[in-house]
Amino acid sequence: MFKSEYLNRVYAEVEHRDAHEPEFLQAVREVFESLELVVDQHPEWEAVGLLERFVEPERVIEFRVPWVDDSGKTRVNRGYRVQYNSAIGPYKGGLRFHPSVNLSVIKFLGFEQVLKNSLTTLPMGGGKGGSDFDPKGKSEAEVMRFCQSFMTELYRHIGQFTDTPAGDIGVGGREVAYMYGQYKRIVDRFEGGVITGKGLTFGGSLARTQATGYGLCYYAAEALKHLKGDSFEGKTVVVSGSGNVAQYAAEKCTQLGGKVVAMSDSQGYVYDPKGIDLKKLFDIKQKRRARISVYANEVPGSEYVEGCRNIWKVKCDVALPCASQNEMDVEGAKSLIANGCMGVFEGANMPLTPEAIALIQSSGLLYSPGKASNAGGVATSGLEMTQNSMRLSWSFEEVDEKLQGIMKNIYKACYDASVKCGKPGDLMVGANVAGFLKVAEAMMAQGVV
Ligand code: NDP
Repeated sequence: MFKSEYLNRVYAEVEHRDAHEPEFLQAVREVFESLELVVDQHPEWEAVGLLERFVEPERVIEFRVPWVDDSGKTRVNRGYRVQYNSAIGPYKGGLRFHPSVNLSVIKFLGFEQVLKNSLTTLPMGGGKGGSDFDPKGKSEAEVMRFCQSFMTELYRHIGQFTDTPAGDIGVGGREVAYMYGQYKRIVDRFEGGVITGKGLTFGGSLARTQATGYGLCYYAAEALKHLKGDSFEGKTVVVSGSGNVAQYAAEKCTQLGGKVVAMSDSQGYVYDPKGIDLKKLFDIKQKRRARISVYANEVPGSEYVEGCRNIWKVKCDVALPCASQNEMDVEGAKSLIANGCMGVFEGANMPLTPEAIALIQSSGLLYSPGKASNAGGVATSGLEMTQNSMRLSWSFEEVDEKLQGIMKNIYKACYDASVKCGKPGDLMVGANVAGFLKVAEAMMAQGVV
């Protein structure tokens, strides 16, 4: 499958051991396809089993999360923390609460996180965790009890110098706050740096909430400018999802002159030819925690369409998939191409299937993998930890300025690596190779551990 015998051998081992983990295998395959371009220049990697170690998490923790619902019934969910790679810093990566969570999903996210964190240039290793708990439809008290039970096990595995979780799908400010409260109660120390995405009154960073979506747009704007001599100005944009990443991607690209005409949730999408009314969207999603279909009921001239995958049929210049993995398949990619789309920039982790990526790239559209374009979230989490250690708070403008600088640097690192690999402008190859080389160098230096 790969030209390199070493990559073939390691991939075959992964496939054999983890045959039942499709998302994880997909992520490894994609990265190996890029490493193909550099592996022959580094015979020293094979000599010390570098790739064998790179694909294997340093530690996998799986645990029971018992909690009592409002009717008094005991429920049991499964919790995970995958501490993937600590070569360049303490494990860092979010927690996802969603019924689809399983070990394959958490391992793929952790694996991607290692490379993403490396790209940020901050000293953070990679990890990820979560649970198959679904916060939707649960009362406030049930969410609190679940978060407390989850942290009652997780606390023994984390710490500001060990492993520092954050949010992800289903884990926003509310869940982070409940988990931090329980952590603090158990260890009896105010260790702010143990988790990021905290509230502003207890050590959170300004602009962390906005960072992933804003960072995505800063990265996309940089790519549009550098590779196409263009910008968001006057562009029609489709943003899938309507959660944290999607909301602030929509806000920033609107500020940069784009018009967001469609957004979705897992049930369907809304189309508003005038441009999505963000105040209304934020009210529906942040305050009322309601379905996106409510938007079409309340905004004249907009319409609701069942089925979130149909969103890619909406004509646009720029597509920002910000919902979940494998949300865009070949059909979606074909629709974007037929409608003259210029570029796809991933806000979510691995939202395009491998076939969709191949089609998008071979059709000459710009394409950026999430590990590069959505790295602004974890980068700002890194900035939150810095502020916690320094015991001070930067202004929104200071954090936002640092975020812009980081996203520009990530873009440059990806582009430069793509050139070195003989594939100028292939930001997927650039992200994988640039992210990996730093981790590889640190792993080589630290010996067989
Ligand atoms: P949220 O929980 O805030 O929002 C998720 C959104 O995606 C919701 O609109 C949800 O709809 C939708 N969604 C979830 N699952 C599916 C699915 N299977 N098909 C279609 N839509 C779905 O999560 P975030 O915005 O935080 O995360 C979105 C993506 O961005 C994820 O891939 C995450 O890993 C990635 N990411 C997040 C970062 C962050 O800082 N939060 C950082 C970097 C990456 P519904 O409400 O109906 O479930």
